[in-house]
Amino acid sequence: MPPALLSPPRCTILPPYLLRRLSVHDDPHVADVARRTMGHDQPWRERRMVIAERTQRRPRGLVPPDLEVRAKGLDPGRRIQVTATLPAAPERLIHDTEHSTFLPGRLVRTEGADPVDDPAVNEAYDGLGATWQLLWAAYGRDSLDGKGLALTASVHFDRDYDNAFWDGTQMVFGDGDGVYFDGFTSCIDVIGHELSHGLTQYTAGLTYVAQTGALNESVSDVFGILVKQLHAGETAHTSDWLIGKGLFTDRVNGIALRSMKEPGTAYDDHALGRDPQPGHVDDYVEVPHDAEHDNGGVHTNSGIPNRAFYLAACAMGGNAWERAGQVWFDAVTAKGVPKDVDFAGFAALTVAAANKRFGATSAEVAAVENGWAGVGVLR
Ligand SMILES: [Zn+2]
Repeated sequence: MPPALLSPPRCTILPPYLLRRLSVHDDPHVADVARRTMGHDQPWRERRMVIAERTQRRPRGLVPPDLEVRAKGLDPGRRIQVTATLPAAPERLIHDTEHSTFLPGRLVRTEGADPVDDPAVNEAYDGLGATWQLLWAAYGRDSLDGKGLALTASVHFDRDYDNAFWDGTQMVFGDGDGVYFDGFTSCIDVIGHELSHGLTQYTAGLTYVAQTGALNESVSDVFGILVKQLHAGETAHTSDWLIGKGLFTDRVNGIALRSMKEPGTAYDDHALGRDPQPGHVDDYVEVPHDAEHDNGGVHTNSGIPNRAFYLAACAMGGNAWERAGQVWFDAVTAKGVPKDVDFAGFAALTVAAANKRFGATSAEVAAVENGWAGVGVLR
């Protein structure tokens, strides 16, 4: 296994091929930002360890003594140590790197605190909360690790940084170059996408390369779009199924970074090129499995499982997070998922999950099977 795979991958929302195009742009500002964005290859592993020590978990099951005493009609002055289950709630910690690359930066908003003057801080806070809500309300999971992991984010990373990423412990957002990309906190599905890399990290641990890496990317798009749908009250049929709608400035000829409904149609732009995602295994893009080629096209081939989910969700109808999302959640969080599972293996896991939850002859099983058949993974 290459050494780079020993530590959690740095999962960015923008694939390297987009930044590479911008790095040779005529506008020196755009080219400089793209090169700096690509070049941020810090000693992530050491930094990750430092952050891991700072990552906090809320104390579980402890009710403030006075509350418990009141409930029992006892003297409020008595201090009694009791344990009970607190209703789960997120624990969010938003930081401002103040245009430096030091993480996590200055703590600027904590859980329950009022909004601040900085929209990026509030957008990050809300997006983290919406992602936590999806996991808790739809699947009963308390945060990414299922144990109330505090959700940490940093905004204003570097200057005009053209990306957002999950580094294995926290979220990081750039402000964008302002020419092609706006700030990266503006899309709730992008935040959901990045945090879902944490969910995958704590569960299936899908290796970030080739078909498994494309599945890792796709799982993040699936839960990213579900965060947006739950937040906006959209059904499978009213959702736009777009990831990163609103990231592009008006200058870009495109509607979003990716379309789960019609992979390959999200943008076609002079500077950014054309959305390269396939929506069927016959069009799988086979490239070397190295960082230079996006670990084997993980952001490209994710279009195939993305569309399988879209097809399954639309066949089921209603709220996609309820049944299709539940099936994908069950598959990703199942015990013993091979870390190198391929498309066919993951398809079988989702069929098994649908079978277990809804029954072998259910419409849900048929929807999942037909979804994968629609992209050529199941024949
Ligand atoms: Zn990703």
